[in-house]
Amino acid sequence: MERLRALPSIDELLARPSLSALLSPHSRPVAVAALREAVASVRTRVLAGEDVRLVDGDVARALNRVGQPKLKAVLNATGVVLHTNLGRAPLPAAAVERIAAIAGGYCNLEIDLDEGERGSRYEPVVELLCALTGAEDAMVVNNCAAAVLLTFSALAQGREAIVSRGELVEIGGGFRIPDVMRQSGATMIEVGTTNRTRLEDFTGAMTDRTGLLVKVHRSNFAVVGFSEEATTRELAQLAAERGVPFFEDLGSGALRAMHAEGLSSEPTVASVIAAGADVVAFSGDKLLGGPQAGLLVGKKATLDRLKKHPLNRALRIDKLTVAALEATLELYRDGREDHDVPARSSLLVKSEVLLERARTLGSLLGALEHRVVETTSRVGGGSMPLAAPKSWAVAVSGVKAVEVHEKLRAGDPPVVARIVDDEVWLDVRCLRDTELGAVARAVANAVPRNRGD
Ligand SMILES: *Cc1c(COP(=O)(O)O)cnc(C)c1O
Repeated sequence: MERLRALPSIDELLARPSLSALLSPHSRPVAVAALREAVASVRTRVLAGEDVRLVDGDVARALNRVGQPKLKAVLNATGVVLHTNLGRAPLPAAAVERIAAIAGGYCNLEIDLDEGERGSRYEPVVELLCALTGAEDAMVVNNCAAAVLLTFSALAQGREAIVSRGELVEIGGGFRIPDVMRQSGATMIEVGTTNRTRLEDFTGAMTDRTGLLVKVHRSNFAVVGFSEEATTRELAQLAAERGVPFFEDLGSGALRAMHAEGLSSEPTVASVIAAGADVVAFSGDKLLGGPQAGLLVGKKATLDRLKKHPLNRALRIDKLTVAALEATLELYRDGREDHDVPARSSLLVKSEVLLERARTLGSLLGALEHRVVETTSRVGGGSMPLAAPKSWAVAVSGVKAVEVHEKLRAGDPPVVARIVDDEVWLDVRCLRDTELGAVARAVANAVPRNRGD
């Protein structure tokens, strides 16, 4: 094909005088990547039968895309508060400031400044976690999945771990409890049925090979109707009588109860500790609202076994996580969590406030066809599956919804919304008041100007 053969080489383009002003501010890797992208996109269009050749504007557009960071801030208009694909919990401002204060320099991550000796990296949060949960000791690893893997590996390797059939769950992203158990070298003993498991099922399955009793909180689904489960207290008691540890994977792990219309009640970490669990695992970036982390709290003797396991070193957290987690836990200590932890404040926000926010966004859209509509948000992140807190959204109507939705997502800044009945719905729950202007501009840019023509 004539047009394909006529496409310039990268070297030709690098030497083309008309491009030199455009390319010179960029490093060579960026310039080359942009030229490759420009050539590739023209080639695609030629192959599709278009009569085009590469012009300088193609290079300018490619430079714009290539020069941008790949990880970008996104405006969340989905109404899903802990959206795993959007990075789960937005950090509290105090945590962001703490990261900024620590990240660029050195810190006392593993040195005790009073004694000059080597300390442990999660030391700064141990006291806070113990005070907030009533546990004897605490430690932190990379995420809750890591916490579960470490616990099975340290407590049940080469032994049997007993778990209810109704709790052999997939957390998401292919993370399945039975697979993790296998990976850790524990033998899984399933007891009970999908909907009913009693304490006697556990008692009957215990042998001298039993290393661990396990309870997995159903964070991301619910069993209703004819169902029964062995309680934390019963299992903790049985485990104590037989001299084996009891582990509860609490997953989304509410550090403090949260009461608002539309939210379901979650067991708090403290309630599980008070019921006698030896180890409890939960995520840092779900209902807690802090950085990604896997928190482990429980009895000191049991956690000592986890700390000594070689996997602990492979699953350790970095200084930025420690900084953000300490600042987040301080907010709980000071009773500020409902105001200053965004994951909680955006679940607890009053419906009137959301309605007002939706009206403001609507007015910023001006003449664009829209309605303010009532909707329900989601907690997300595999937490409170049945919760459906009432919210308000702006529905953009009279547009090609799929097209506008895609353009919003690809825009700058990207806006992630929802399509409902051929309309684009922007749930305002997870939008800050300061972001509404940017959302309105993004919508204006995403809607074709000559609608109806
Ligand atoms: C979410 C969840 C996990 C995994 O937590 P991550 O922090 O995403 O690794 C493990 N167990 C349960 C019950 C969960 O809900």
